[in-house]
Amino acid sequence: MRWLICTLLLSYAFAKHEEYDGHALFSVKVQKAEHVDYFNTLDYPFDIWQYATLTRNGMVLVPKDYVQLFQNDLNSKGIEFVIETENIKNELELEDQLFAEKARSKSVRSVDRPTITWDRIYNLTEVNDYLQKVAEAYPDVVTLVNAGKSVEGRDINYLKISTSNFQDTSKPIIFIETLLHAREWVTLPASLHAIDKLVVNVTEQDLIDNYDWIILPVANPDGYEFTHAADGNRFWRKNRRTGVFPGDVCLGVDLNRNFDIDFGQHSSNLACSETYHGPSAFSEPETRAIRNILNEHDGRIELFIDIHSFGNLILYGWGTGQLPSNVFAIHAGGLRMAEAIDAVKMDYNNNYRVGNAALVLYPASGSAMDYGLAANVPLSYVYELPAYRGAGQTIFGFLVHPDFIEQAGMETWEGIKAGARFVTNVRSRY
Ligand SMILES: [Zn+2]
Repeated sequence: MRWLICTLLLSYAFAKHEEYDGHALFSVKVQKAEHVDYFNTLDYPFDIWQYATLTRNGMVLVPKDYVQLFQNDLNSKGIEFVIETENIKNELELEDQLFAEKARSKSVRSVDRPTITWDRIYNLTEVNDYLQKVAEAYPDVVTLVNAGKSVEGRDINYLKISTSNFQDTSKPIIFIETLLHAREWVTLPASLHAIDKLVVNVTEQDLIDNYDWIILPVANPDGYEFTHAADGNRFWRKNRRTGVFPGDVCLGVDLNRNFDIDFGQHSSNLACSETYHGPSAFSEPETRAIRNILNEHDGRIELFIDIHSFGNLILYGWGTGQLPSNVFAIHAGGLRMAEAIDAVKMDYNNNYRVGNAALVLYPASGSAMDYGLAANVPLSYVYELPAYRGAGQTIFGFLVHPDFIEQAGMETWEGIKAGARFVTNVRSRY
């Protein structure tokens, strides 16, 4: 009977990935500038997972009905490629299976402090519960703040962490944000780990004595909920805006193209696109919430890190390729953070690269990172956390191996810490 129930539960869980049956993940090696453009401008129904450069393969998820067509196109252009998986549904099921196995082997400890377990990726309810527990257990240093409601009416919550309730204005504020893109699950442990180390399991007191912190773990609650839902979509990236174009089959706005810096220049005006920028700048409550946080503390936030995945990159503005006037400080800070992460990273992952987002990757407009710069944050970055590359398992890109969760949180925290200390060292010079 137990087996039957297990089998039924598993088949129910796996049924949600049906729409990805036959979707193939391509890794594409481009060797000419024109081919870089060809690849990076692929749009709906293609889903670019990683932009291509002359030195780095691009990755794109291709729907079943387009696989043959795409192969023919690549062949005719003489572009080399590898099909990483012919059916991404297998890897989606593998992710479910790995988490299910991990859950079965879990040992439950009872402790009186708010704790995080690193064996799975918390859903939205669990994140909000955790934030509330931390705020209740540590009222002297933690304030739970509601930054507003999402399109579908969910709370956008963040923690303010401070020994002076943000009243000591001589302290720089550090603002960490994750899950602006819903499917980038591996980023969540980074903010949860930061909260744990700043509040619950403090080992480096200077980080709480010398700085005020804003940690926003789920910047896109509707999209994130949808990636966990049984009738949802694990690879959903955007928010859940509807009704922009009446009768349109597609919905959602790419929140990281919806800020007002160079709005619409390097993004899509097609609702179906993964990089659809929305009807107007700040049309979305989620981006307005982030804007308001940055504006509320104008002049005090000295480090803003918008954490994404994947690619082992630390990127800075401007998204058009123009360099900010303090680019040397920004680049030096990026290197410091990258070195700190590289020192503790897994052997199977490459070192981080640091650079201007448009030069290292591809131009993008309307990003949170650029808005941070424009809102007087001297050091504004995007992290692209690594994808799991462990041996023996074919887990790709946005999919998360449970063995990598704690590591992702821990190593990213090393980068954030290095960034914080860099702020203290250089702030008199920018
Ligand atoms: Zn992202």
